[in-house]
Amino acid sequence: MSNVTVCVRFRPLSSKEKRDLGDNICIQSMDSETFIIKDEKEEGFTFSFDKVFYEESNQADVYEFLVLPIVRDTVNSINGTIITYGQTGAGKTYSMEGPNILESDEKKKGILPRVVDGLFACIKTSADSTKYTVKLSMVEIYMEKVRDLFDLSKDNIQIKESKTQGIVLSGATEISLSDIAEALQSLSSGIANRAIGETQMNMASSRSHCVYMFTLNQESISEKRVKSGKLILVDLAGSEKVEKTGAEGRVLEEAKTINKSLSALGNVINALTCGSPAKANHIPYRDSKLTRMLQDALGGNSRTALLCCCSPSPSNASESLSTLRFGARAKHIKTSPLVIKVSEEKCSKKNGDASGTRDESFEKILEKMSERLNDEDIKLLEELFIQAGLFVDPDSEEDLESAIQDVVQQTISSLMKAVEELRSTVEMLQRENNAMKGRLAVAERCDALPGKNADFLQKIFGFLSSFIPGM
Ligand code: ADP
Ligand code: MG
Repeated sequence: MSNVTVCVRFRPLSSKEKRDLGDNICIQSMDSETFIIKDEKEEGFTFSFDKVFYEESNQADVYEFLVLPIVRDTVNSINGTIITYGQTGAGKTYSMEGPNILESDEKKKGILPRVVDGLFACIKTSADSTKYTVKLSMVEIYMEKVRDLFDLSKDNIQIKESKTQGIVLSGATEISLSDIAEALQSLSSGIANRAIGETQMNMASSRSHCVYMFTLNQESISEKRVKSGKLILVDLAGSEKVEKTGAEGRVLEEAKTINKSLSALGNVINALTCGSPAKANHIPYRDSKLTRMLQDALGGNSRTALLCCCSPSPSNASESLSTLRFGARAKHIKTSPLVIKVSEEKCSKKNGDASGTRDESFEKILEKMSERLNDEDIKLLEELFIQAGLFVDPDSEEDLESAIQDVVQQTISSLMKAVEELRSTVEMLQRENNAMKGRLAVAERCDALPGKNADFLQKIFGFLSSFIPGM
C-alpha cells in the first residue's frame, strides 16, 4: 500500500493580478513541504504536502519529483496516473503541456513532452531481447460524454472494466508511436481537437477534462512473456465555482456539468478516505465518467500523483484554499500498485483467479453468485440495473459483471450498516434490562425495610434515577 503523492504548485502572479494588487501574495513559504496561506479575512492556514513548488520552480523540478518515478514504474509494468487539479488559470495545462506541446524550449516544456522523452529513453537503454511498443489514446470528457480526440466521429466512447486490463476506453483510437517526434505530433493533433470555451477568468481555458493514455507493451523474446504498463495523464477542467466565471447559457451548463464530475471526484475521495478499512464501503465511481475512468487510479492498482495548481494572489485565496483542501483529503488515499503481466493474466483468468486487489470474501460471494445465475437471472438483473440507472451494455459480460459487483458491494455495505444498528439496539436494550433489574433489586430491599424508611428510600432512588441513566 502506498499513498497518493500530492504536490502543490503556485504559478507566478499574472499581469492582471499584478495590476490589481501589485506584488501581494497570500502565501508564506515555511519550507519545501509546508506553507501558510491567508484567506480574505487574513486568517492563516498551514498546509503540508509531499512537495511544494513555489513561483520560481522549474518545469523540470515538477517532472523529476512527481512524474519521473511513475514513468520508471510504467516501464516496469506498474500502472500510473498523474492528475492536475485547480481553478481555471491556475497552471494545470502549463504544467501538463508547457506553453505549446511542440515548443522545443528545454526549460519550459511540460510534463507530457518530458514523459515522451522519458519513455523512449527507458526503451533505448533496455535489453535488445525486449521488444517495446508505445501506444497513445487521447479522449476528453465533455458534458459527461467521452470524445475520441483522434477521431471526432467517436463522440460517445464507453468506459468498461476488464478483469485483465482494468478500466478501458472501449473502441478509442490507439496510435502507435515509433519515436519522440511522432509522439509530439500526435499529441499536438489531439490537443487541437479539444473543445474550448472562453470565460472571464482565462480566455483560452478548456472546459473539458483531457485524458492522455500511454500504453507500453514489452515483449521479452527470450522469456516468452508480455508485460504491459499504462500511464494516464489527466488535465482536469477548472474547479472554480460557477458564479466567478461570469458564465451564461451553454457555458453555464458546461460549468455545472464540470463541477458535477469534480464533486463526484470529491465524493469518491471522501468515500475512499472516510470509511473504516474493515467495512465494505460503497465507492460511487459510477456517478460520473471522470470517476469511472479514474477508478483504477484512485482505488486500485495504480501509482497515482496529484498536482494541485494554485494562484498565489490574495484575489484567488478562497479558490486556492478549496484546491488545497481537496489535495489534503486526497493525500489519505491508499493504492496498491500491481505489476500487470499480460501473459500471466491470461493464465489466471483461466484458473478463475481474481484481481489481487479484491477482498477474498467478496470474490467468494461473486463466485457463488455467478455459479447460481442462469440466463434468465442475468436478463432480470440487466433490467434491474437499467431501472436503477446503472448503465449496462447487454453485449458486455465484463460490464455486467462489474455492475453486479457494484450492487453486491452496495448490498454488503447496507447489510453491515443494518448489523451495526442492530448491535447498538441490542446494547441499549441490555442497558435498560440491567437498569430494570437494579430498580427491582432496590425495590425488593426497600420492601424489606419497615414502613417510613422504605418510602423515603424509594423517593430518593426515583429522584436519582432521573439524573443517572441506567440506574
Ligand atoms: P489552467 O490550465 O489551469 O486553466 P493555464 O495552464 O492555462 O491554466 O495557465 C494560465 C496562464 O498562466 C497561462 O498563460 C500560462 O502560460 C500561465 N502560467 C501558468 N503556470 C505558469 C508557470 N508555472 N510559469 C509561467 N507561466 C505560467
Ligand atoms: Mg487548462
